[in-house]
Amino acid sequence: MSKYVLTLLVLFAGHKTGFAQNSPLNVFISVDMEGIGGIGTGKMTSSSGKDYDTGRELMTREVNTVIDAILEHGPATILVNDSHGDMQNLRHMKLHPDVEYIQGNIKPLGMVQGLDDSFDAAIFIGYHARAGTENAFIAHTGSGSVKGLWLNNTEVGEGGLNASFAGALGVPVIFAAGDQAFADQFAALTGAVTISTKVAIGQQVARLVHPDEVNRRLHEGTTKALENLSQSQIFDIGSPVTIRMRFASTTRPDILQAVPGMKRIDGYTVEYDADTMDEAYRLIRLMYKYISW
Ligand SMILES: [Zn+2]
Repeated sequence: MSKYVLTLLVLFAGHKTGFAQNSPLNVFISVDMEGIGGIGTGKMTSSSGKDYDTGRELMTREVNTVIDAILEHGPATILVNDSHGDMQNLRHMKLHPDVEYIQGNIKPLGMVQGLDDSFDAAIFIGYHARAGTENAFIAHTGSGSVKGLWLNNTEVGEGGLNASFAGALGVPVIFAAGDQAFADQFAALTGAVTISTKVAIGQQVARLVHPDEVNRRLHEGTTKALENLSQSQIFDIGSPVTIRMRFASTTRPDILQAVPGMKRIDGYTVEYDADTMDEAYRLIRLMYKYISW
C-alpha cells in the first residue's frame, strides 16, 4: 500500500497516528478503582475503609503495568487522570516517573479531565459496569443517585460516557479493563480491546485472581491494543447530544427544572438537548454531582 493511500485511509478513520512513528504516541489513561483486580469489597475503594491502602497499591501497580506496556511498544507521552472518588488515590511517589498525573476531583471534566484532541489513544482501567447491571461489581453511573443515563437513546455507564467524550474529539479508546461485566459491556458498546480483572458474584462480592495474573492480562491487552491501533474504532455518537437521566429520587429532577431547556419526562427522569458532547459532559457532571442538599 502506498504511503499516500495509507495516509488517506488513516485520515478517513479519523486517526492522527499511523504515519507519525517518529513522534511519541500521546496516550491518556483514566483510572477508576472499583474494577481494579484484587479488590473484592467496596471497603477497599473507600478512604475510610478496611484495606484501602492495599487498594491504592493495587491501583498504582495496574497503572504502572499499562505504562510499562506502552513504553515497551514505543516512545510515548502519557497523562494519567485519577478518576475515583476524591480522585486522590494513586501513590504518586510509586507511579512511573515519566508520566504526568492529574489529582483531585473538583474538575469540570471529571474522569476525562485533560483529554483533548492531541491524544492518539485513550485507555480506561479499573472501570465498572453501568447502573443496574447484574452480576457486576459496584455497578453505578456517576453516583448512586443515578439509575440510568442515555445519550442519543443509547444507555451508557461511565465507560460509555467517557468513550463518547473521547470519540467527539476523534480519540479512540483502544483498551479498557474492569470486572467481567464491564469488560463485556464496554467491548460490545465500543469495540475496544478489554480484559477482565475479576468476576463479580454480586454488587459487593467478587471472585478474584491473583494480582500477578491481572497484571499479566493488562500487559498483554495493552500491547495487543497498541498493535491494533490503526484499526481501532472511534466511538462517536454525533451531535447534538440528547441526555436522558433517570434518578433514584424526584428531588434532583425537581431542582434541575432551574436549568433552562431541562425537560421533565416523568417524576424521576429529565432530558436535555446539548449542542455538543463537551457541553453534555459538563452538564451531566453537574446534574449528578454538584447538586446537593
Ligand atoms: Zn470509582
